Amino acid sequence: MRTVIRNGTVIAWSGERHRAVENGAVVFENDRIVSAGPDDGAAADREIDATGRLVIPGLVNSHLHVTDTPYTKGYLEEIGSSSTDGAPTNFFALYKALPRVRAATDAEAQVAAAECAFAELALTGSTTVVELGYDFEIGGDGDISITERVADVAGRSGLRCYSGPRYRSRYYGDNEKGGVFYREYGARAQKRFEDCVAFCRTWNGRYDDRLRTMLAPGQIDTCDAQLLKDTRRYADELGIPIQLHAGQSPNEYARVRETENRTTVELMMDTSLLGPDFIVGHGQIMSGDGDVMSMGRHEAAALRDSQTTICHLPWVKARRGGVIDSIHKYRELGIRQCLGTDTYPFDMFNDMRMASVVCKIVEKTAEVASSDDVFHMATVGGADALGRPDLGRLAPGCKADIVLVRTDTPKATPVYDPFKFLVLAATGGDVDRVIVDGRKIVRDGEVLTIDVPAAVRQVNEASERVRAALDL
Ligand SMILES: [Zn+2]
Repeated sequence: MRTVIRNGTVIAWSGERHRAVENGAVVFENDRIVSAGPDDGAAADREIDATGRLVIPGLVNSHLHVTDTPYTKGYLEEIGSSSTDGAPTNFFALYKALPRVRAATDAEAQVAAAECAFAELALTGSTTVVELGYDFEIGGDGDISITERVADVAGRSGLRCYSGPRYRSRYYGDNEKGGVFYREYGARAQKRFEDCVAFCRTWNGRYDDRLRTMLAPGQIDTCDAQLLKDTRRYADELGIPIQLHAGQSPNEYARVRETENRTTVELMMDTSLLGPDFIVGHGQIMSGDGDVMSMGRHEAAALRDSQTTICHLPWVKARRGGVIDSIHKYRELGIRQCLGTDTYPFDMFNDMRMASVVCKIVEKTAEVASSDDVFHMATVGGADALGRPDLGRLAPGCKADIVLVRTDTPKATPVYDPFKFLVLAATGGDVDRVIVDGRKIVRDGEVLTIDVPAAVRQVNEASERVRAALDL
């Protein structure tokens, strides 16, 4: 069946950049786009009227965690994460609160959280989502069946999902002296890794190929060099991408230096992780002082030449007092970047705006992190990192992953520059229709694939159990 979306402003892909076409049209047949650009008036089996709408490519949310996020609300934010010199350390959230919340979250609670999260992601225009499941935390057993159940929720949601269950050699937490302890998993680590590889092998391509898999070791300070090397070997064998949490805290950077006798980037280089299929999630503390320009020249060159992608997560950082310093510098170095929400809200519009504004504040000028560049990160940046030239763009041959954003509102009127509206003014609440793989999953701001009231009720019930079990 051939469908045409017309009468709206289409953000079409020119081959090098997005450009706005007023009164444009997008034609798609089944799961693929046939044309995107000026409206030639061609007939179709079905017509969608996009009057007062921007027609944009679905957003690529390149790093997030759906299973624990609701239960962290209220615990991780706005609380002691500065060292004595005033630098944000991410200590409380990363080493104290998160492991405890995860240890308190049972399997049913995780699956309920996923239902809610995928509903929110759909409603706010993320059509491709990269879900990084957490592994066994204190007391957990790393049961891969939870990953399978969450992947099934993703598949049924109609979204395009990359599922990356995490594994590692050791776990961490906070000790009585206010520091960080590391404890080895021993043989259990290898079992978990094998389970994750088996999951990636058997689930890749399910749900009409909307579900893909990814290897996701990490964090970097919890992985042996051999585990990282094995990750590269299996990623090449399976032809799937890798995402590694790294650059998250000064403690992590110091720990890698101390135990591996090299920097974070050098460890990635030496274990052959770098490549166009490799994403560094966070990438905030990649040098001793957290300044991107303080990386060694060999490190910056290796990230650039390998086409490794840094996944920037601005909102979760900013609300803990931290920033990437900066996405402008990474851009100047020629290093690829994408964007994700990490935790809540799962609204890429919020993170696009934070990416732009935080960079302007860090660089003390408005003339960096332009709306065009940030929108590119949120679409093409993520798609390229996943090796998917058929995503993040409205162009012939690309997947029909299309989002309609309302501009017939007081807030939007008039729209002189669609990119500035999308990045500096719009929110996920302005999304009113979402199409993934040619199939409508949100209409008039309602998710068609998920029972949202039931999902909300289940998360509320589960949150009572988590709260009762939480030792914080
Ligand atoms: Zn993360």
